[in-house]
Amino acid sequence: MNSANPETENVIIIGSGCAGLTAAIYSARADFHPLVIDGHEPGGQLSLTTAVENFPGFPEGVLGPELIERMRQQAERFGTRFLEGAVQSVDLDSRPFTLTVRDRSFRTRALIVAAGASARMLGLESERKLLGHGVSSCATCDGYFFRDREIAVIGGGDSAMEEATFLTKFASRVTIVHRREEFRASKIMLDRARENPKIRFLTPYVVADILDAAKGAVEAIRLRHAGSGEEKTLPVEGVFLGIGHDPNTKVFQGKLEMDDEGYLVKKNGSRSSVDGVFVAGDVADRVYRQAITAAGAGCMAALDAEKYLHDLQHKA
Ligand code: NAP
Repeated sequence: MNSANPETENVIIIGSGCAGLTAAIYSARADFHPLVIDGHEPGGQLSLTTAVENFPGFPEGVLGPELIERMRQQAERFGTRFLEGAVQSVDLDSRPFTLTVRDRSFRTRALIVAAGASARMLGLESERKLLGHGVSSCATCDGYFFRDREIAVIGGGDSAMEEATFLTKFASRVTIVHRREEFRASKIMLDRARENPKIRFLTPYVVADILDAAKGAVEAIRLRHAGSGEEKTLPVEGVFLGIGHDPNTKVFQGKLEMDDEGYLVKKNGSRSSVDGVFVAGDVADRVYRQAITAAGAGCMAALDAEKYLHDLQHKA
């Protein structure tokens, strides 16, 4: 394959998280020899979590990075190829479709977009270091590990309210920290959180730091009052980020139909607004966002792509 005259792939899969790798396993077993573009975050969000206890088939639980590595090996075993890098541009107007990755062109008959969504982060160095060690962006995944602990949830939208309410099943107390007095959350979700005796609110505060990165564990957060600048320390053993997710769809703007928040729209199974382009996983899912649902969606996209390629071959 070279940039001047690239050969045409049958299936290119964008993204190497749960959705992309499951699509790769299915496409590879159907003999399409798929090419997976790893993306900015190889392995996706699973590679950023620690123990996963809700993926069927692992009664003792499994580490997120190990689970993703096993999927990768399974995809490789059947002939999947991997390419490091992120997609810079796509041309979906002409066929085969063309993509560029690290300034090289790739052509493909079918495209599966499983580029995922990234949890928004506060941007603190300590947050990055403690991610998976007391800092989490997924209450459903990690809440269980905080039984009888005090934790903080950051954010003032529905995600933060939902996470905080869910986490009261485990935590002894949940403090919602929000940077404004007004909440973006819907009234019903906000009221539910307010009525929960285990939840309290601290506003308007921004998180200035998470302690203690040097010890590799969360012991407290340092908060700064958004108005007066006064600082205080809140002792907690866990920090959950509920400040939203961003689907990784910038490169598809104006090329694939998306909703008002940039999530790709799928219809009739995994089909996108362009024939031959299929979508799977968190890039098109703002509701469930689970490893198992992403894997299921990856399977659907691969089967839909297989049918599309089969029909294409018989039309030719
Ligand atoms: P969101 O509505 O965008 O809210 C994000 C919250 O995080 C906002 O309160 C925002 O503060 C805060 N935030 C953002 N960046 C921050 C930063 N750097 N530092 C501190 N705070 C920050 O996101 P979401 O809650 O994930 O909801 C997204 C969509 O999904 C919404 O449409 C929501 O209704 C929907 N959703 C629905 C449900 C449900 O119905 N069960 C559950 C979850 C989500 P500001 O307000 O100051 O900007």
